[in-house]
Order: sequence, then C-alpha cells, then structure tokens
Amino acid sequence: MPTQITIKNKSYQLPIYVPDATLGVARSLDSLDLVAVGLEGVMVNTYHLIQKPGEAVLQTVGGIKQLMNWPGFVSSDSGGFQLFSLIQKNPQLGKITDEGIVLYTGPKKQRKTLFTPEDSIRMQFAIGSDVMICLDDFTPPTADERRIKESVERTIAWAKRAKTEFMRQLELHQMDDNNRPLLLAPIQGHNHPQLRQQCSQALQEIGFDIYGLGGWPLDDNGKFDYSFCEKNAELTPKDSLRFALGVGTPENMVKLFFMGYQFFDCVLPTRDARHGRLYVFKTDPSQITRTMLEKLAANNQLDEVFGFLYLNKGQLATDNDPISDYCDCPICTTNQKTSQQATSTPQVSRAYLHHLFKIGDSSAHRLASLHNLRTYVRVMELLRQEH
Ligand SMILES: [Zn+2]
Repeated sequence: MPTQITIKNKSYQLPIYVPDATLGVARSLDSLDLVAVGLEGVMVNTYHLIQKPGEAVLQTVGGIKQLMNWPGFVSSDSGGFQLFSLIQKNPQLGKITDEGIVLYTGPKKQRKTLFTPEDSIRMQFAIGSDVMICLDDFTPPTADERRIKESVERTIAWAKRAKTEFMRQLELHQMDDNNRPLLLAPIQGHNHPQLRQQCSQALQEIGFDIYGLGGWPLDDNGKFDYSFCEKNAELTPKDSLRFALGVGTPENMVKLFFMGYQFFDCVLPTRDARHGRLYVFKTDPSQITRTMLEKLAANNQLDEVFGFLYLNKGQLATDNDPISDYCDCPICTTNQKTSQQATSTPQVSRAYLHHLFKIGDSSAHRLASLHNLRTYVRVMELLRQEH
C-alpha cells in the first residue's frame, strides 16, 4: 500500500485527512490555524468558488492557494455532488443530461446554463488545484437498476471527456509529470456489484491517479456500510491510491485505512465543533500503536480509543480541565505566555469554552474547530507509524 504521495514535487505521508474549505476557508479558521494543527491539505469546491470570488478573480490573483496564502495542497471537488443535491431537493432548479448539468437560473428560472465535465476541469485549473476531481453522475441511493446503469455510463463518458480536457490544459499550462496536478475519478454504481465493477474497469482503462469512493457509504438503515467500502476498495489494484470521499469519523477513517484507503475529507470535525461536539482520545495516543488500532478495528472496539465531549453539559461550567488531557492542540496545552499560574492550566479550559458557547461568541467555533482538527490529524499520524 502506498505510504506517501508526491504532489507537484512535494511529498506527503499517507494517510492524509483534509478539511472542507468549500469557499476557500475552513469556517472560522485562517491558514495559520490550519498549519498550527498540522494540516497539509484542504478540499475546496469548484462550483462554489467559481461563483465567489469567480474565475476571473482567481486567475488574476493566481489561484486559491495564493488568495488563502496556503502553503499546503488544495484538492477540489468537481461541484457535481452539490449540484446533484440541489436538483434532487428541487427539480425546478435543473436537470442532469448527457451533455452536463443544466441549471435554470434567473427570477423565473427561464435562463439555462450548462456545467460540463470540461467546464469543471477548466475551472479547477483556474483555482490552481493540486488534486482535481472529475465531474461524475452521482448515483442516488434510491436509484433503480436503470438509473444506476445510466449513472455509471454517464460517469464513464464524463470521465473520458474530463481526462481529455485535463490533458489539453496540461499542454496549455506547459505542465509535465513533475509539476502537474493529480486527477481523481469517483467510482459510481451504488451497491450494484457488476455495474460498480464495470465503472471501475472503464475508469482504469482511461487512467487516473486516484480512484474515489463514489456514492453514499450508508446502508438502508442509515448505518455506515463498511462492506460497501471494502468491496469498492477491491475494485482497483492493491497499490492504487484511493480517496474515501466525504468520510468520516475517526473510527470510519481507521477502518477504511486498513481496507486500503489513504485519503479522507469530511465536514464532521468542523461542523461538530460548531455544535459543541468535541472529538477526544479516551486513552493516551502516545501509547497507541498502529498494530493496536488494527486489532481494535478488526474487533469493532475502536470506541475504547475514540470518544466525545459535549460542551453543552452543565457540569462543565466549573471544570478547569483541558478539553482533553491527551491533546497537544493549541487550546488544550499550556501557554506559558498567558498562563497566570505555575500549574498546568490549559490555554482554554472546558469551563471557558462552555461559557463561550453559552454566550454565543464566535471564538467558540474557532477554538473547538482547532481542537477537533488536531485530533483528526493525530489519528492520521498514528496510522502513519511503522508497524
Ligand atoms: Zn485539544
């Protein structure tokens, strides 16, 4: 299994987690914050960025990394999933055709705009993305066989068009294998084994750098579907790079890592942080080895290691402890410059963060997000250990 990846001449250890920075910002955090917790990449959204700040601004300033002053890499979602969700919720807003995604805009929805696989790639070059994702036709979880088949055929056809446009853009930007971005294609086909296999096979024939876990990894009862993820991983060769798009909790990521996934992006740590749900280690991570995690994952015992702290609990109002004794994030550790006592008072205590949430101060979101993201990076660091 690959243990590192080189993106535009810079090597990164695998596995790697990237937070969602849809519009070029991981909400309430700046690039310095992201660096402080050890993050090396972010996931932006092509469709949203092209609306704001827009393709022209991005091209003029030199891309999103320049705008954010972000030293890490940027992956970009094609925009397909957001448009799919939009249309799924309200079919008046558009439709999916073989040509691309048609959107009805204007006050009376009379104007049509088309978003094609080629548009998506061209825009990702304007963004200056390092890991680009092909526009795919997301298979809805409720799809019948006819619709699954249609989505697979369209995903393959669009991936072919995206790859052609990608090669054209490489020439245009005079990029070669040393400085080019990577291209990812998501595998679709919902839970239909043959169609998923067919999708994967066709995508491998076209040739991509990374293969994505397309679709919902949830079963009919809304539970995380590990067997779906495992089968998807088996569709590509052992040494291929696999991105578990949109996954997940620390437990999900650990389990999927041992199935062969090396890339994760998820809104959970930042979204949960804004709702006062904090991810904590139940045991000291400096005592946890990768082999231990592998065993715990196999025995479904990862909850012995990963837990939560809910900040709305009343008893936290007077709790001077750090969010987690085992956390080395900027808020859980002592800051000698601001600490009043010689004792190890954390930079931000549970009581203070509880108070900040209670009064609705915006700093609460930033502090909680810093802690949660550091916990996610720490999970990746544990998985990068030698056996
Ligand atoms: Zn912390």
